[in-house]
Amino acid sequence: MRRKTGSDSLFIYTAHVNAEIVAIGSELLTPFRQDTNSLYLTEKLNQLGISVIFKVIVGDSLQQLTTAAAQAMARAELVIFMGGLGPTEDDLTREAVAASLGLPLRRDMSIVSALEKRFAERGWKMAPNNHKQADVIAGAAVLPNANGTAPGQWIAGRYDGAEKIVLLLPGPPHELKALFEEQCWPRLKAKIPEQHIATRVLKIAMMGESQCDARVAPIYKQFEDVETTILAGAGEIQLHLKTKAASLEQASARLNELVDKLEEELQDFVFSDNGDSLEQIVGYYLQMRNATLAVAESCTGGLLAERITSIGGSSRYFLGGAVVYSNELKTEFADVPAELIEMHGAVSKQVAVALAEGIRKRCRASFGIGITGVAGPTGGTPEKPVGLVFHALAGERGTEVVEKRFGGDRNRIRWFASQQALDMVRRKLM
Ligand code: AMP
Ligand code: MG
Repeated sequence: MRRKTGSDSLFIYTAHVNAEIVAIGSELLTPFRQDTNSLYLTEKLNQLGISVIFKVIVGDSLQQLTTAAAQAMARAELVIFMGGLGPTEDDLTREAVAASLGLPLRRDMSIVSALEKRFAERGWKMAPNNHKQADVIAGAAVLPNANGTAPGQWIAGRYDGAEKIVLLLPGPPHELKALFEEQCWPRLKAKIPEQHIATRVLKIAMMGESQCDARVAPIYKQFEDVETTILAGAGEIQLHLKTKAASLEQASARLNELVDKLEEELQDFVFSDNGDSLEQIVGYYLQMRNATLAVAESCTGGLLAERITSIGGSSRYFLGGAVVYSNELKTEFADVPAELIEMHGAVSKQVAVALAEGIRKRCRASFGIGITGVAGPTGGTPEKPVGLVFHALAGERGTEVVEKRFGGDRNRIRWFASQQALDMVRRKLM
């Protein structure tokens, strides 16, 4: 392959810069180790206005690595390789990137001396394989690594007629972070035109994904410059919005425009547009009203209380409650009449209401929540199938109850139930 490197300071980008991240290491292809570096880098790159368009994980194979490098070079302006810069046989990044760029490797004797010094300082003798870490791709700037032996490399030039920046970074996360922040960030900032990415997350409670998309797609499709991603979970949909502009104000203003339209369409299904969680919102509302909350949980087994108390300062509004799994404890701790359970069954509207009212009284709270349902996988009947959950919210002015049939496994059903209960409090106090 014929490629040529240019001088490091000759060009400045004028267009959008897209990045590809290539994570290298066979361990990253096992179930035991995750590529976390790319998450860190993506966040940093986005802050510079650079979008990540591809992420690739490739094992320690020269052939596969060279193929991945060539593909990355063909589709992104900034290509970041990380890992595989160590001294061992399986560290092949330098060779592969050099080969795909069609450039030779040169041994940099000043790096060899620095390595020798580093080893001597620790009283160790350097094994000869360490020399490999001093191999530098022709034309690359060396990025010294204060936290490890393998330096990074910065290569900028024209390849196949297009301006490219290629980075080689060490794999260990603390080395990569320090090297990126101290040496790559300022270089990239100087080279890439001022671009700002604004992001917003709109959170929607208890609405189906397809129903939500049918309502919002006609709106976000009018904003071609905003990237919209829908993330659906149990009882919560997140709309992730992202756009680029020359200034952060400009980008944010554009997102605000879209957010206003989306909120107008979705109305009170939207519970947050600034990152707050449902449990946080419920906390704000309860505090604002000087109100308190107590819970009596059957099928959620404390999940609701866990979520509410995960918020710092929740003691100001959450009093506590009871996990009342058995019928006896429903009666004993939440004053549910035994005859009511006998007559309607533990999973029933009536028992949910009694749980909410009982725990509210017992705890002298402004609001009481009762949850009872069939989380499965066993215990379902034709009349009371797996996924059937009753949620009750008792307050000074009466009790409301919501019946739902949730889909999914035990964990999902339990999460749904806690989400529904939180959403009932939110809607009540909104
Ligand atoms: P290497 O630079 O390939 O010798 O990688 C050294 C160590 O850094 C590996 O054993 C991993 O523990 C870690 N590492 C490498 N790549 C990544 C990555 N993408 N994300 C998180 N850790 C990594
Ligand atoms: Mg490795």
